[in-house]
Amino acid sequence: MKFGGTSVEDANAFRNVTTIVSSAIAMRPVVVVSAIGGFTNQLLASVETAVDNDARSATRSLEDGFQRHIAIANELLADAARPAFDTAVLDARREIRQLHKIIAAHPVTAPPLQDEIVAYGEHLSSQLLTAVLEESGWAACHVDARRCIKTDDNYGSATPLPQTDQVTAAELLPLLTSAKIPVLGGFIGSTENGVTTTLGRGGSDYTAALAGAALHAREIQIWTDVSGVLTADPRVVPEARTIPVLSYQEAAELAYFGAKVIHPKTIQPATDKSIPVRVCNPRTRREAGTLIVSESEAAPQTVKAIAHKNGITTVQVTSARMLGAYGFLRALFEVFDRHRTAVDVVTTSEVSVSLSIDDAGALPELIPDLEQLGTVEVEKRRTIISIIGEGLRNTPGIAARVFSVISDINISMISVGASSANLTFMVDEAQASEAIMRLHRACFEEATLTSMARHVSA
Ligand code: ASP
Ligand code: MG
Repeated sequence: MKFGGTSVEDANAFRNVTTIVSSAIAMRPVVVVSAIGGFTNQLLASVETAVDNDARSATRSLEDGFQRHIAIANELLADAARPAFDTAVLDARREIRQLHKIIAAHPVTAPPLQDEIVAYGEHLSSQLLTAVLEESGWAACHVDARRCIKTDDNYGSATPLPQTDQVTAAELLPLLTSAKIPVLGGFIGSTENGVTTTLGRGGSDYTAALAGAALHAREIQIWTDVSGVLTADPRVVPEARTIPVLSYQEAAELAYFGAKVIHPKTIQPATDKSIPVRVCNPRTRREAGTLIVSESEAAPQTVKAIAHKNGITTVQVTSARMLGAYGFLRALFEVFDRHRTAVDVVTTSEVSVSLSIDDAGALPELIPDLEQLGTVEVEKRRTIISIIGEGLRNTPGIAARVFSVISDINISMISVGASSANLTFMVDEAQASEAIMRLHRACFEEATLTSMARHVSA
């Protein structure tokens, strides 16, 4: 059970987590927790202040964060349990102070020491949660995640090493066997030499997946501030609702769109072992959220979600040289490679290629290079719309249905069949909301009406 920063932002949130963990005791949970809401950002900012040679302000900037921990402890822990946690906070402050001083004096040390500092976010939240669970009478047991998650030394975005599986099982299984609840901080790990590392922003999900995979858990639960994965962005479609079941691949397609889903990389360990991942919201804890499972288990239903992303730039390169030539696409992609620009959607005709890019920062330098290959046309403020659902490729009539509801809206760059789960195209940003609302209505709201009507007449 992984709880994100907003699930542990204040005393009430901690209470809620305790209730949720309590109700799962029979399933022998392992708890993974993020730093309390906003604290990771504060820790990172403090490192920058230290690099700017102001160690004193760096440490002082964390005072509010330390106080938030103390305030939660004051509210939730009895007198007997408080001193131990207060000491942990004081120790953290003192050690961070030393680290800030070292960074200020020798800024080259910043990358590894940054991880050392940032890790205090998860250290403190996991110790606090352990104490809070104990206060409720549960046999919680704090585990230093650095003993479990072994990584390379790519500070700030370390990659777990294969032995993590075995080491984590060896740390956690004995605790579970003796009916304890292991509580570990997410996001942090250590190298083989014991140097602290972090798994990249949002990395607590990754920790949960690694731990779940190591233990062959029945389920990995990600408790976050959204009620599972929604059928569309609720800011555009107020009628959007929670998708009950998704396949790993559908979830991966959705992740690109920043749908508040977990990053596919972070659930890879779960995917590898076919462990279901449930995304749920502590504030609506009685709802089941979204369950992400393997393709064979995810009831293929034609359309699961309508995802979109604004602010897309499309680039079209046209050249008669492409006709029947080889090596042209390689040359084209090399330009994007050289300018470190990721390409998302690609469509081709015999003499032209259209590509979409999300980050157009390098465009001014990219274009002259592309012009060596052909005529270049750029369109900004486009929106990618993607219809996602595992059954799409094999269901006749979906494309016709999709395009007929937006027949008066100009679309381009249609891409279908690259994966079995997605149909993608571009529209102008100004027309995106209208298109998405109509598509949602056609795919979900009307479908429900028809099946309801069928139900009633039966
Ligand atoms: N606390 C870390 C972050 O804010 C890790 C996480 O929350 O998953 O990125
Ligand atoms: Mg997160």
